[in-house]
Amino acid sequence: MVERLHLWAFLLVALVAAAALVAACAGGGPREDSASQAPPSAPAGGVRATTTAEEAVAMLENVHWLGHASFRIGDGKTIYIDPWQLKDAVPADIILITHEHHDHCSPEDVSRIRGPNTTVVATADCVAKLGGDVVVVKPGDKITVQGVPVEAVPSYNLDKPFHPRQNGWVGYIVTVNGVRIYHAGDSDHIPEMDSLQVDVALLPVGGKYTMTASEAAAAANAMRPGVAVPMHWGRIVGSRQDAERFRDGCKVPVQVLEPGA
Ligand SMILES: [Zn+2]
Ligand SMILES: [Zn+2]
Repeated sequence: MVERLHLWAFLLVALVAAAALVAACAGGGPREDSASQAPPSAPAGGVRATTTAEEAVAMLENVHWLGHASFRIGDGKTIYIDPWQLKDAVPADIILITHEHHDHCSPEDVSRIRGPNTTVVATADCVAKLGGDVVVVKPGDKITVQGVPVEAVPSYNLDKPFHPRQNGWVGYIVTVNGVRIYHAGDSDHIPEMDSLQVDVALLPVGGKYTMTASEAAAAANAMRPGVAVPMHWGRIVGSRQDAERFRDGCKVPVQVLEPGA
C-alpha cells in the first residue's frame, strides 16, 4: 500500500513537471519573437545610446541657433522657436513660443516673419501681446501643426521665482524628419525632463533665470539625447564659459553652436 502511494506520488510529480515543460515551451515561442523585434535593452529613442559624433552633427544640420533661446529649424517647413532680435527675417511656416517674457515672446520679431499662412503656437499669456490667430497650448498638449508633430511639455523653476510652475509655461518637442528636437524653454532641471525621449536637446545653461551649466549637464545626462546644445547664454545672462562648462559636464555628445542669422 505504501509502495503504491509512492508510485502515485511519483506519477503525479512527473505529470506536473511534464505539463510545466509543455507550458514553458508553448509560451517561449512568441516571447522570443517579440523579443527579437524589440530587445528590451534597446533605448526607446533608437539613436540615443549609439549616436556617433557624425550622427549628432547630422541631426543638427537643420537646426540654426539665432542667439539666446531663439532657433530656426528649416527642413521643408520653416519653424521658429522663441524668435528674438532676428537679423534675417526668413518667412515662418510655424512659430512656437514658450512663455511671455520679452526675450521669448517678441511681437516685433513675430510680425517680421509671420505671413498669412503662418501658424503661431504659444501659451495663453502671449495671445494679447501677439494679436491675430494663436494656437494656445499648455503642458501636456500634443498637436499636429501643418503636418508637424508638436508636443508642449512642462517648463518651470524649482528654486527661483521667475517661472512658476502654475503659470503653465512650456517647452516644445517638434519632430522633423523623424528627429525629435526638444527646446526646454526657461526651465530648471525638473523631474519631467528625465523621461523625455528626444534626439536633440536644446537646454538653457546661463543660470539665474534657468538651470546653471552643471544643472543642465545633469539634465542632459539623465535624458541622454543624441546630442545636446547649450542655449540662453551670450545675451542677458550666461557666457561662453557656461556653454563650455556644460559641454565638459555632459556624458552625451554636445555641440556648442555659434549664433547665426
Ligand atoms: Zn523667462
Ligand atoms: Zn529667458
